Amino acid sequence: MRISQLARSIADSPTLRLNEEARLLRERGLPVIHLGIGEPKNKTPINAILSAANKLNSGDVKYTPTDGTPGLKKSIVKYTEDNYNKIIAPENILVTNGAKQSIFNVIYSLIDPQDEVIILAPYWVSYPEMVKMVYGIPIMVSPKDGTFYPRMEDILEAVSSYTKAIIVNSPNNPSGLVFPPEFISELVEYCENKGIFLIMDDIYHRLVFDGVPCPPGYQFTGKDIESTNLIVTNGVSKIYGMTGFRIGWVISNRRLIEVMTNVQAQMTSNPATILQSAAEGALNGIQSYVESLRLTIENNRNVVMQELRSFNGIRVQKPQGTFYCLPDFRAYSEDSVELAKFLLEKAMVVTVPGVTFGMEGHLRLSFSGTVKDITEGIARMKWALDPESPQEIYIGDRKLTRDWL
Ligand code: PLP
Repeated sequence: MRISQLARSIADSPTLRLNEEARLLRERGLPVIHLGIGEPKNKTPINAILSAANKLNSGDVKYTPTDGTPGLKKSIVKYTEDNYNKIIAPENILVTNGAKQSIFNVIYSLIDPQDEVIILAPYWVSYPEMVKMVYGIPIMVSPKDGTFYPRMEDILEAVSSYTKAIIVNSPNNPSGLVFPPEFISELVEYCENKGIFLIMDDIYHRLVFDGVPCPPGYQFTGKDIESTNLIVTNGVSKIYGMTGFRIGWVISNRRLIEVMTNVQAQMTSNPATILQSAAEGALNGIQSYVESLRLTIENNRNVVMQELRSFNGIRVQKPQGTFYCLPDFRAYSEDSVELAKFLLEKAMVVTVPGVTFGMEGHLRLSFSGTVKDITEGIARMKWALDPESPQEIYIGDRKLTRDWL
């Protein structure tokens, strides 16, 4: 079978692959701890369940408009007003199958072959692959000062006459950092002046800790929604912990929404009707839910930091949002894929190699799970790597002795 060159060049999703590996190991009865996937342990918000159940009970489950139901769009208009202080119309919204499809739709609709898209490292694994899927060129920009905070000077060095867009994700997956408002302000101003599209992936925008400011990009533009170069993607996956519902959205000018709606109409049509009802229920329902999820995750962040502090040789920048951190493991290995494999084999802990996020020598740890998983997972990692940790450990009901250090 001859697979197309383009399809062959696209990497698989390491997080989804690891998720599958962990599931298979668990199925074999092995006590695997999953610090790989970014998925809160919460139950679905009750208003989402009721709204979906009502729709299902009505027996009237048909196609909806490709760009989303009027009811859900109305909720997104209100959400944008409440959380972004921005007035938009339903025509400025496209509802998609998860935020992933939102981002792909934007890239597909803006990027011509050979156009360059600037991606700030460490970055979410899907951005470069999506750019490659439309024959664009991903240009990775790493902060040269050794932090995970992007710097304008590095971005300016990477901009060329081919630069069509810049993708920003703050709070950031995988570093957990929130970019300073001054940086966002400068970037927005620069993109507006230069005619470069600024795609802001806001999927974690309310999962922020310690009162760190995370103002929306819109705050820094004087332009209205029809003329700004800012494009915002968001969804219910992370903030409401509704990863399985696959509902996201894009906010942009009407022209781009029309084009993306045509693209989506030819690809998938509308996102599933019942799931749109669920998202509408979540957005209109009890909002204290989001705060209680945020508090749980903030507590998990504190636990992760406490556990990592006593891990010899590990350096970590304290996450200010999301449910990820990206510790530097170069004291133990420069090869993050090998290290992740070693930890899975010896300690049965799933981590994600930093190389997939553009940060070799690091591992991404997710703290979206339980406190028990976090503490036990890190204890097992210490046991496997740190010669100063106790030589024996219980994994499940088996007592294991470390004989490789
Ligand atoms: N953007 C970032 C930075 C993410 O981490 C994820 C999911 O992990 C997404 C977008 C995709 O979200 P969804 O599950 O709604 O497609």
